[in-house]
This record gives sequence, C-alpha cells and structure tokens, in this order.
Amino acid sequence: MSRIAFIGLGNMGLPMATNLAKAGHNVTVFDTVAAAMDKAASDGMKTAQSASAAVSEANIIMTMLPNGPIILKVLEEVIPAAKAGAVIIDSSTIDVASARKAHEMAKSADLQLLDAPVSGGIGGAAAGTLTFMVGGSTDAFERAQPVLEIMGGKIVHCGEGGAGQAAKICNNMLLGISMIGACEAFALAEKLGLSAEAAFDVISTSSGSCWSVNTYCPVPGVGPKTPADNDYKPGFAADLMHKDLGLAQQAASESGQATPMGAHALALYDTFLKEGGSGRDFSAMIEYLKTAAR
Ligand code: NAD
Repeated sequence: MSRIAFIGLGNMGLPMATNLAKAGHNVTVFDTVAAAMDKAASDGMKTAQSASAAVSEANIIMTMLPNGPIILKVLEEVIPAAKAGAVIIDSSTIDVASARKAHEMAKSADLQLLDAPVSGGIGGAAAGTLTFMVGGSTDAFERAQPVLEIMGGKIVHCGEGGAGQAAKICNNMLLGISMIGACEAFALAEKLGLSAEAAFDVISTSSGSCWSVNTYCPVPGVGPKTPADNDYKPGFAADLMHKDLGLAQQAASESGQATPMGAHALALYDTFLKEGGSGRDFSAMIEYLKTAAR
C-alpha cells in the first residue's frame, strides 16, 4: 500500500481521496479550508498542517486545485519537501503552459510529475469512474497507474508533459461548441413548430447526432435523463465550461492555432454567465439562446 498525500479537498478532491483511503492506502490530506479537512478527518484520513507536512512521507502526491497559478505556488512548497522518488500527480484542470512549467519544476528537483486532468465530474469522482488523461514519462505513468485505477474507469496515457491537459481542453472545447450547436438546433426546432421528441428522434439517429444531443440532451423530457430534467442543476456547471474554453483559447493563442468556433463559444458562455447562467448546468445555454436577440 502506498503513502499518498492529497492536496485540495474540494468537490472533486475529497471523494477521490476518500476512494484512495477506502482502498487501504495511507492517505494524508491538506486543504486551506478547515471544513474540508474536518470532513476528511471524519472519514478516517490523516490531516496535515501544511502542504509540505502532508507530502514529507509520501510516495505519491496528488493535487486537485483550482488553477495553474495555485498549482505552481503549491509545488514551490511541495517539491523541496517531497521524498526522493515520489511521483506527483496533478489532476487539476490548468493551462498547458503552467502544466509544462510544473513538469520543469519537478524535473529540476529529480522528481517525476504527471499532468492527469479528469473528466466525469463529481459523480465520477465519487464512483471512482473518472477518465484520466495523462501526460508525462512512461515510467511515471506506470508507477501511477495502480493509484489512478482506484479513482478512474479509464486511464489514457496521452504523451509527454502537458499532453493530458492538451487532450482535456481539446475535448472540452469541442464539447462547448457542440452543446451550443445542440441548443441552437432544439431552440430553432421549437420556433418552427417541431416537437422536441421529433427533433430528438431524427437528430439522434442522423448526421447531427453527437454526445450533446444523444447523451446530454439540453431539452427536458427527451432522451436519457440529463440536468435539463432537473431544472439544469449541474452536472457540469457553465462556470467550469467557461474556464475550460478560456484555457483552450489561451493554448490556441500561445500555439498560433485558429479556433474561431472555440473563441465564439467562449464569448457566448461569458455572456451566459453574466446573464444568470452562473451555477447552472452548461446545457442551460438553451434557455439563454431562446431569449437572446437574433
Ligand atoms: P473546488 O473549488 O471545489 O476545490 C478546490 C479545493 O482546493 C478547495 O477545497 C480549496 O480550498 C483548495 N485549495 C485552494 N488553494 C489551495 C492551496 N493553496 N492549498 C491547498 N488547498 C487549496 O474545485 P473542484 O470542483 O474540486 O475542481 C478541482 C479541479 O478539478 C479544478 O481544476 C477543476 O477545473 C477540475 N475539474 C472539476 C470538475 C467538476 O465537475 N467539479 C470536473 C473535472 C475537472
């Protein structure tokens, strides 16, 4: 069994750490919010007074934090305190440039690091069925794999450092674009007098079919149960989609790639958040589009 340090016990981190502890690993946790630490302690995990104290005995160091600047700041503290041979696994969704910087910081201290963002949300974190998209060396990947398999249903080694974050933002940029497309199609269908049921039956079995229609339809009452059937409670919050679309634009700008639809999707989610979309599922975009000026 491994000694695992887990830093960042939010909506995702706490259930992930809990699954590691349930699997019998020795888990020591740290978060800046006392309530998160209390919850972890009541679930039988050891709590540390600082990130550096949490990692001092660990073979595996997991981080699940809000953004790139926070990750880099935490790594500045964690890397000098880590044991030789420890593997750092950052599962936060952060910008590709910060992920690459994190790899450099670990390498210059002779430590291995993996960028390993996830998809699957809070439900996947609790059920241990997350998809991990992993960037880093094959050796580090193989050492981390048994631990990732406790928290995940699918683990994909995407390539060298930064490749996990790259895979995540490319997927989520496409998801944001396709969800807006699905919302537009169903909003227009309604204006044209077509029932949602008929629109779903045709599109989900035709060339317009996609995950945003078939699995996560933004209209209530048709297809599988989705956040649309639960008053658009997330699910996957519009705020997180906005974050990921922003990271995609940052990467597109840094790499010089044109992504006009991705840029437009970011602008639309930006407006949607300001018009009351914050805290709602990202598929609630359909409600905004129905009221937006043509
Ligand atoms: P969250 O805001 O609920 O949790 C982040 C945690 O980090 C908080 O408990 C916060 O107190 C802690 N934290 C912040 N700064 C810290 C520091 N310096 N030291 C220690 N702890 C610190 O966020 P979340 O929903 O758990 O998401 C975590 C990451 O996973 C994000 O990067 C997010 O984009 C990504 N993600 C989230 C989801 C989701 O559905 N929530 C899905 C996929 C990926």
